[in-house]
Amino acid sequence: MKHLFLLALLILCSAGYAQQPYVLVLGTAQDGGYPHIGCEQSCCEQAWDDVTKRKFVVSLALVDPGQKKWWLFEATPDIKEQLRLFASKTNHEFNFLPDGIFITHAHIGHYTGLMQLGKEALNSKNVPVYALPKLRLFFNVHGPWSQLVQTKNIRLQELNEEFPLTLTAGVIVTPFKVPHRDEYSETAGFKIITPQKRYLFIPDIDKWAKFEKDIVKEVRAVDVAFLDATFLSGDELSNRNISEVPHPLVSETMELFKNESNDTRSKIHFIHFNHTNPLLYDVGVRKKLMDQGFNITEQALRY
Ligand SMILES: [Zn+2]
Ligand SMILES: [Zn+2]
Ligand SMILES: [Zn+2]
Repeated sequence: MKHLFLLALLILCSAGYAQQPYVLVLGTAQDGGYPHIGCEQSCCEQAWDDVTKRKFVVSLALVDPGQKKWWLFEATPDIKEQLRLFASKTNHEFNFLPDGIFITHAHIGHYTGLMQLGKEALNSKNVPVYALPKLRLFFNVHGPWSQLVQTKNIRLQELNEEFPLTLTAGVIVTPFKVPHRDEYSETAGFKIITPQKRYLFIPDIDKWAKFEKDIVKEVRAVDVAFLDATFLSGDELSNRNISEVPHPLVSETMELFKNESNDTRSKIHFIHFNHTNPLLYDVGVRKKLMDQGFNITEQALRY
């Protein structure tokens, strides 16, 4: 009898846990994806040959099973496959399209997937798209994005830096400004708060020194921090000066956290890998990084 009671309790607890909001990673590569257009170097060779080694462009799904809702972060060139990946990983228990799409900035890997929602493809109805003011203006003014707005395939939603947006009870998204090459729009990072976990999402940023927040403090304050890992080190760029590369090298980020506790370092999950970054494919390099307590974000995993 006692055993039965314990079993019932266990089932109830795990059912409750299954209802908790979580983040599902739908892509980890830099804007150009992996393998990369035109690359016949050793970095991409194996991914051309073996489709299971391919990685989609950086994207997250925020899922609230209790409310049967979900939100997509970034509309990437791989959105077709990513929506399928989401449906299969969640046993088709949610709507095919998300309850909203959050976009960080107007570089091709982060927003051009919206085109699949237009007349020529899905012809969706009023999908909410959350963007900061300059990015909203970009969508409103420039075709083909303005056509998505006019034909009501998407509905632009107001988003302002440092203004928290409550999605469902206890699930809150707060955008903040991030320094980056801002040709067409500003660039956002997102803090995602759920009743159990806090997440930070900064897929693209110039050097940490230009960031108005202290990244070490920001990481300490969350459970999981998905951070820009475009390049591991200067070795990947034989023809460019490291100081001119508008990304924090993974090696620089690791240096910044070297005196932090193992607990803090383990909160960092690197993401947004350029095809040249050996963290995508080199087992030895990956192990060396993980031995120091850091993590590498994996596509199709829950966090
Ligand atoms: Zn990017
Ligand atoms: Zn390559
Ligand atoms: Zn960018």
